[in-house]
Amino acid sequence: MEPTNAMPRKCVALLSGGLDSALAVSLMLEQGIEVQGLYLSMSWGCCAKDKATACAQELGIPLMVLGVGEAYLDVIRNPKYGYGSGMNPCVDCRIYMFRIAKHYMEEIGASFVVTGEVLGQRPMSQRRTPLATIESDSGLEGLLLRPLSAQLLEPTLPEIVGIVDRAKLLRAAGRSRHLQMDMAKERGITQFSTPAGGCQLTDEGFANKTRDLFAHDLRPRTKDMELLTIGRHFRIGPRTKIIIGRNETENLMLEGHRDDGYRCIRPKFAGPAALVTGDCSSQEQDLAVSLILRHTKEEKLPEGPVEFWVNGETWTLARRAQEAAAAPTQDLVKL
Ligand code: SF4
Repeated sequence: MEPTNAMPRKCVALLSGGLDSALAVSLMLEQGIEVQGLYLSMSWGCCAKDKATACAQELGIPLMVLGVGEAYLDVIRNPKYGYGSGMNPCVDCRIYMFRIAKHYMEEIGASFVVTGEVLGQRPMSQRRTPLATIESDSGLEGLLLRPLSAQLLEPTLPEIVGIVDRAKLLRAAGRSRHLQMDMAKERGITQFSTPAGGCQLTDEGFANKTRDLFAHDLRPRTKDMELLTIGRHFRIGPRTKIIIGRNETENLMLEGHRDDGYRCIRPKFAGPAALVTGDCSSQEQDLAVSLILRHTKEEKLPEGPVEFWVNGETWTLARRAQEAAAAPTQDLVKL
């Protein structure tokens, strides 16, 4: 790509809610570059949307929040560059997100993308080779500026043409946080999440449930990922899972997910809700009822007719509650 002096002094900065991306923005603002923030959200939980919003406010920049979309699920299912410690496809994830950032950059007439990545900070995605791969595969060659480590990396186009002063960028590397903490103090930046917070895909329990989902469902939806964050999950067959709420908030959330292919069973007494995902015949429904009753305190089990709402319709159990609770539950795997 040929250098041009007509590059607008405007960039898109990916904000994660963490300190590094906040500092990257701050370094741009100090050079008089106009910054548009971009936060890419995973509805099943990642990074820190609230912190990203607070951080943008503190820095005084506008923030666009976009969902990663259903196509992101293909990235989780089949990452070209593999997984990290859990089901986190970090290199592919960044390529995917940076492609979105590139489109957004073009749409709003910005000329480059800024991130808070630091060379050597993360073993999977922030070594020199993956940083270069992410840049080329996202189509952002020469247009992806990492201000915290810029002096250790090849100059980018905005540095070459002089709209960004490379001498004022940094040479941070590795996992130490001292430099960043000092910079935050000097600049009065307070709105950022801790580095430990973060991506559900790196969590072992969540990763196991994600593996199970992808092993049994050829076309999972974002909604199925969101459900992995709610309740206790029981695999009862290749196409069916039962989710039991652990508290009233989760019961209401499960009820909110009822839909075609998602049957919600709510007791009319004080007990947890169940959501059956996938195939649900009377056999699966009986099993879900049995699990509800087993997760209900004994003193709350009704003596008389046992009534439920099944996707909003009243349904009465033909047996006594105690009998149904004691029914055998073979082939049931707790995830
Ligand atoms: S930790 Fe999660 S959000 Fe961050 S790059 Fe990896 S997969 Fe993507």
